[in-house]
Amino acid sequence: MQKGFSRYKTLYKTFSEKPVRSTCGLCQIGCGILIHVVGGRVTKIEGDLEHPLNRGKLCVKGKRAMDYLYHPQRLRAPLKKSKNGNWNPITWREAINEIAEGMNRIKKKYGAKSVVFMRGAAKGLQDDYLSRFANAFGSPNITSMGHVCFIPRKVASDITYGYYAIGDLEHPPGCIIVWANNVSETLHHVYERIKEAKKKGSFLIVIDPLRTDVAKLADIWVKIRPGTDLALALGIIYVIVDESLYDAEFIDKYTIGFEELQKEIRRYDLDIIEKITDVSSGLIKEVARVYAKKRPSVIQWGNGIDHTVHNFQTARAICILRAISGNLGVPGGDMYFSPPAIKKRGIPELTLQDLVPLEEREKRIGGAGFMLPSIFYALPQLVIDAILKGDPYEVKCVYIQGGNFLLTYPNARKVYEALKKVELLIVSDHFMTPTAHLAHYVLPAATFFEFDSLVLPPYSLPVLSIQQKVVQTSSVKSDYEILRDLSKPLGFGDLFWEEEKECLDNILSPLGITFDNFRETGIMSGKPMPHNHVNHGFPTDSGKVEIYSKKLKEWGYDPIPSIDVERVLSSRLDTNYPFILTSLKRSYFRHSGGKNIDALRKKYPEPLVLIHPNVAKSLGIKEGSYVYVETNLGRIIQKVRIEPHMHENTVYVDYGWYFPEKNAGELFGWDKANINILIGDDPPYGEEFGTPNLRAIPCKITPILDL
Ligand code: SF4
Repeated sequence: MQKGFSRYKTLYKTFSEKPVRSTCGLCQIGCGILIHVVGGRVTKIEGDLEHPLNRGKLCVKGKRAMDYLYHPQRLRAPLKKSKNGNWNPITWREAINEIAEGMNRIKKKYGAKSVVFMRGAAKGLQDDYLSRFANAFGSPNITSMGHVCFIPRKVASDITYGYYAIGDLEHPPGCIIVWANNVSETLHHVYERIKEAKKKGSFLIVIDPLRTDVAKLADIWVKIRPGTDLALALGIIYVIVDESLYDAEFIDKYTIGFEELQKEIRRYDLDIIEKITDVSSGLIKEVARVYAKKRPSVIQWGNGIDHTVHNFQTARAICILRAISGNLGVPGGDMYFSPPAIKKRGIPELTLQDLVPLEEREKRIGGAGFMLPSIFYALPQLVIDAILKGDPYEVKCVYIQGGNFLLTYPNARKVYEALKKVELLIVSDHFMTPTAHLAHYVLPAATFFEFDSLVLPPYSLPVLSIQQKVVQTSSVKSDYEILRDLSKPLGFGDLFWEEEKECLDNILSPLGITFDNFRETGIMSGKPMPHNHVNHGFPTDSGKVEIYSKKLKEWGYDPIPSIDVERVLSSRLDTNYPFILTSLKRSYFRHSGGKNIDALRKKYPEPLVLIHPNVAKSLGIKEGSYVYVETNLGRIIQKVRIEPHMHENTVYVDYGWYFPEKNAGELFGWDKANINILIGDDPPYGEEFGTPNLRAIPCKITPILDL
């Protein structure tokens, strides 16, 4: 366990109250913070210098976390919509009883499956509590954003080598490839480490259609065409195999299926890969050679990979690349870090998934048809369809935990129609969002300042951190408390601990400590496990890295990553929509969140669309003007920024925009600049996870002359 809190005790002895160690919960990175509380009010937060992840730094959002807590428009009481559409405050008792009565009524009439539980952006343990509640209620329909965020990479890693590898950036690596990961905007702690490694001599390659801030530091910037990462990964593997740059000893001792890979990869040639990716064959060779020869090398991948129908096989190809080049499991490469031994997120003991029999679980909407058998979620876009069409069965009640789906789900107008049709819609959130405004009940959820929890981020260095309740503003409740209270009138209150802290004690129990014990230190780091495979092999069925996966074959999926070249090239032809739409996330906001924080809006007041100067010139578009961005689904307006350093035919649209300063009755301008007005949710979906295609959508741009 990390050393005590002594440094801060000394540092802050002049304060009337010493700061409380906690974790920022505005996103799932898990940065350590110190919260100063004076007279029952948070007066200041700062980065925790002793926290191994962020080492005292906070991102621009995290620095403004107090603005969320004390925001004048924060939801402070449960609200019920009247028949004329007005919101009226009601007591918690009324809200809980009425919602429970409504859920029970719908369950009796249509069955438990007709009640769907939908999770928004990841909220850590609160997500597991919602699964627990749904399973206790008897519904197999729990959605998450897993199919478009992290889970394709996580499952590909597990299937290929049995764990989620993390780049050992502090070693430092000989070469770092940052792939589809805008670390400078979204992962500041990784960005810091990459900058340090670069200073120590790491060779940096960035694969991104846009010259992001991290790409500006790169030795090689690979300006890839959006959505073609699988082809590029196969191209790099092709060069490594063709030029015998692989680690023959590692392959021989620790992998299965290299011969099948060699056979498969010979189907391609670099000219085809160049045509698909817009990356020259010469550059593909250079990247492959540097990555394989300068080892140990790291591939720092990101969420961009998750957003296409090829997400899982792209991730598999990158996993294979790590293995065959001898960069897996070695210091300075991509390695296993063993997390602190607490009970894991998502285990049946916590989610109670076994309360819903397997045959019932297989009836979850879209689940059994599209997802790898190892994943147990309903598919969000098919839940939307089910609400509208009653197919495969009726969905009458939806409980949304912290999700603003009018902004974050594709085909936003369809989502609007669906949510309007739901007989009983409940949203728990911090603010009145466009989505919450469609609900019948809105429940005021606690921020991370207002409840105790444990944070163990799944996709970076495994550091267990404490989140401590420091204040209680009005009558807000944590998601746990809301679900616990709802469970009682629904008849399964005995399945929830009376206090959330008892659940946290249970999660910590393998360590032999309680949550109160953990308050003493509040930080516990996992351990790097270099060369773990030498003595223990890999935790897969075969004990080896599975380049060829029998399991995938049995489940009906490609056992080796491949790409249908003809299909990829032919699907591009659409002369009506000649540009390639993709999206951009900014450090100021998390998804649609943060648009109501004045300090952040001052820095980034409105959505921007990035357009290449050649395109702007050909269409007569000027910097700072407004344009329509249009697809076959509709059009939106964003302000132009001309960006010379990007893939020329690409149009980068800002994601997650609505305008909380606008009229609630018009849903805060939810459809004016919202990229999800433009993006469809139609099949074909990704075979493994049912992911709709969110990147590389054909679009056009038109200048607006009279705005
Ligand atoms: S990255 Fe920013 S928002 Fe996310 S946990 Fe860290 S400080 Fe908070």
